[in-house]
This record gives sequence, C-alpha cells and structure tokens, in this order.
Amino acid sequence: MESGATAEQIEHMAEAVRRLGLRASVIEGTERTVIAAIGEKRADMMESLASGPGVAAVMPIAAPYKLASREVRPDPSCVRVGEFAAGAGAVGVIAGPCSVESEEQIMSAARAVKAAGATALRGGAFKPRTSPYSFQGMKEEGLKLMAAAREETGLAVVTEVMGTDDVELVARYADVLQVGARNMQNYRLLEAVGGAGRPVLLKRGPSATMDEFLLAAEYILNEGNDQLMLCERGIRTFEGHTRFTLPLASISYLHRKTHLPVVIDPSHGTGHTYMVPDLAYAAIAAGADGLMVEVHPSPETALSDGYQSLDFAGFEAMMARCRRVAEAVDQELVGSTVPAS
Ligand code: PEP
Ligand code: MN
Repeated sequence: MESGATAEQIEHMAEAVRRLGLRASVIEGTERTVIAAIGEKRADMMESLASGPGVAAVMPIAAPYKLASREVRPDPSCVRVGEFAAGAGAVGVIAGPCSVESEEQIMSAARAVKAAGATALRGGAFKPRTSPYSFQGMKEEGLKLMAAAREETGLAVVTEVMGTDDVELVARYADVLQVGARNMQNYRLLEAVGGAGRPVLLKRGPSATMDEFLLAAEYILNEGNDQLMLCERGIRTFEGHTRFTLPLASISYLHRKTHLPVVIDPSHGTGHTYMVPDLAYAAIAAGADGLMVEVHPSPETALSDGYQSLDFAGFEAMMARCRRVAEAVDQELVGSTVPAS
C-alpha cells in the first residue's frame, strides 16, 4: 500500500484479496503496510488488485516461503515474552538444563541463570532421546516444576513439545513452545503449535536445508502465529570432532531471507562444554538474536547432555564476555543490567 494509505483503504484491499479466494495477512511496517495475499496466483488477479484505492504496487513474492520472507516484511521481527526479547536489536539468552530432573535441580539452575543475566529458562520435560532406554523426561511433573521456577524468578519458560497430543498440556505451563530438531518436518505438529497461542522456537533439522527450514517456519506463521524464532543447532556432516557442525553462516543467510529472529544453540551445536562459550561469542559477533545454552548445577551427574553443559560459574563467565561482545557489535543483551557478581 502507499505510505499514506488510510485504514479504510487497507481494509478495503484486504477484503478484495479475500474475495479472490486468497488469504489476506496485513503486515504493518515502519514505512508502509503490506497485504500478503496467500494462495494460488492467477495473472488477472494482479491487474485487478493494482488499480485498487491506496495500492502502491502488486508484486509476486519469489521466495517459496511467503510470510517468513523479508520481501513481504522488510523490518526484523522481535519475539517478546516477559523480560525475554529476541530480534530487532535485542539479544535474548535462554539457559537451563537439558532436562528437568528434580525440584532442586531446576530451581537452582533458574536462580543461577537469572543472576547471570538470562531472561528465559530452558528445560525439557518431554525428551526426544535417541535410545528408548535413556531418560525420557519428567513429563507433566517437569512442566509443573518449570512453572514454579517461573513463579519465583520471572524467567520465561521454554520447553519442548514432542507430539500433537501434548500441545495443549505443554502450552498450559510453558511460555515458549520448542519444536525439536527431530520434529522440524512434523507438519501436523507445526500446525498445532502455530495455533496454540504461544510463541514458538523452531529448531533446524540436522539434515534440513535452509529452504526446508524456512518452509517449516511457514507452516507455523500460516496458522496466524508470528511470534516465532528460528534456532540453528548444528547439522550432520562427515566431521566427528564435534557432535554436530554449527554453521554460523546461517545467521547472515537467514537475516537476508527472513525477518524472523535467529537463535544459536552452541551446546547441541558442538557437543563439548569447552567449546560452548567460544561459539556463543562468535554467534553474537555474527549478529545472532539469541542464544540457547545448556547449564546444569553439576554437569557430571546430569541425566542428559552433561558433556555439553556449562556449570554455573562457566555460564556466568560466558555471560560477562557475551555482554562485551554484544556491545561491540551494537546489539543489546537483554537482561544485561543484572550486575555480575
Ligand atoms: C534440546 O534442546 O534439548 C534438544 C533435544 O535439542 P535438539 O532438538 O536440537 O536436538
Ligand atoms: Mn540437550
């Protein structure tokens, strides 16, 4: 729409789009409003819409993902939950154990990551484990403990939902629904979390291309949920010195192609505690909008992923340096006002 288009003209054109059998998604930007018309394109549609009141131009969107595309929404989007924010200049840190294991474990982790400046707490209650004999998570009991940790600390709760049957249950306790790497192409789950009324963190599948990742995001956006973060957590390569290979080039690429915030997970991305801080600094320097980091009160006794978890002192030291790196690249680490002790 033209920059001076009125609210009536915008609504008129959104209605005109709907009458053509398309879905109209109105996106308000700083410069102008864009009406994304989603559906099958016919040549005559473009012409009939172009002559409408207040219309500046009608353009086909080249990217296969429409709502995720920068072409439709040039301004970066920001996901906010409580004190947590990621995107549009804000860098949010999500930290906590791989799995919720006990009240004492999650409470102490919540207090420690909050004191170090994190604004969201991670912790799996439903765990996607490679082996059926490994710890599968505390399920609803774990969700209750996460909610109690939010109650005390104010941290936003991020936790994984593994199946469509669990979406309602997890959404009752969590602030952000995490879709795990193994589920990136579980399209029914993507639709379900898209409609759950909660922000979503979508992890990249270890063998998914960027287009597949962005089309998976599109499933969530297409349900009317625009509170979505993308999480690069590493891909499967021939290389064996790290658990996965963590491509930080994803940050630049995704920022070029999409307005969605990009979160980096250096824990799963490397699989080694000693590498996690270095990759966290590099991610922030490269423009990441957030970090997701595994932190455990005693990594050596963790029921999952202890070998890639930081202890409290390690996390605090990492955060202090992350703040300096963020400042150097004109980003703001949300929660950075928390004094480091
Ligand atoms: C996790 O965050 O604990 C997890 C299982 O991650 P991913 O889905 O990336 O393997
Ligand atoms: Mn883990």
